[in-house]
Amino acid sequence: MKAVLVTKPGDVRVTDVPEPQCGPNDVLIQVAACGICGTDLHIIDGEFPPTTYPIVIGHEFGGEVLGVGDEVKGIAVGDRVGVDPTLNCGFCYFCQRGKGNLCENWNGIGVGRTQGGFAERVAVPARCVYPLPEGLDYAAAALVEPVSCVVHGFHLLQPQPGDSFLIYGAGAMGLQNAQLARFYGASKVALIDINPSRLEIARGFGFDLVGASLDEVRVHASRGFDNVIEATGVTKVAERAIDGVIRGGKLLLFGVCPPHQTAAYEPFKIYNEEITVVGTMAVLRSYGQAIDVLAAGAVDTEKMVTHTLPLDRFAEAVELVRKGAGLKVQIDPRA
Ligand SMILES: [Zn+2]
Ligand SMILES: [Zn+2]
Repeated sequence: MKAVLVTKPGDVRVTDVPEPQCGPNDVLIQVAACGICGTDLHIIDGEFPPTTYPIVIGHEFGGEVLGVGDEVKGIAVGDRVGVDPTLNCGFCYFCQRGKGNLCENWNGIGVGRTQGGFAERVAVPARCVYPLPEGLDYAAAALVEPVSCVVHGFHLLQPQPGDSFLIYGAGAMGLQNAQLARFYGASKVALIDINPSRLEIARGFGFDLVGASLDEVRVHASRGFDNVIEATGVTKVAERAIDGVIRGGKLLLFGVCPPHQTAAYEPFKIYNEEITVVGTMAVLRSYGQAIDVLAAGAVDTEKMVTHTLPLDRFAEAVELVRKGAGLKVQIDPRA
């Protein structure tokens, strides 16, 4: 079958790979949509340490069940499903304490040591497979994983109804955070981005408090924002994002900044203003909730998915993501 294989950093090709084997506890899925995200680019560029090459990438996907292993209950051929790519070991120190996303033997479908969803077919453990409710199409199914990262961030952030939010970065992740904030009952959601076209897109989602700098949006919250979410992954932005936090407020570091870079914070400010700085990493028991909030309309999935391409045009799809064109770029391997 056809799949996107990264043989080693810098070498990505659409090629024939062996058919996936469906073990007794596995589910075989015909992939119908798989989203490209920053992590895929990092894997292609050799900047994602957990990856073992060669690997079929793709970790944001959904599709139709083609087969189930003998031990699998409750999932049947023909079901429409989404896949939580998390593969925690279950027996390390952190897994045993309920923090599987911090697993010492961390693995994920399409990102670690297990073949992923930029393929015609993929076999995954049944425990990763979630039935999709009516009304959630495959394009939406491929958004569940990124939204589940946002939901996990909100579990840690614990926003309160009526809170104000400031999001740095109006890309796909920034806009998903912003829409979740609105869904959680935010009184105000502001977005900052230096790319004017991104701000225009944000307005299209109904976010009017947008600007290129903190000064431009601060007029709407003179004391600062209850929750500031950093969703650019730029270390300098992560450093200055704290300037937008209200006294007693929180800063969530959601974007993935390059390892080993440092940011300077004023400890006196964090102490004196009782600011909480929170880190959030991937997904933890949030995939099912992400399905529920998507089914409830928290995210405008039609607006989020701006490009859908067939497997053969994967290189073109990657270029779109690198250029920052549109929002979410997805591959439909059936096309
Ligand atoms: Zn992703
Ligand atoms: Zn573990």
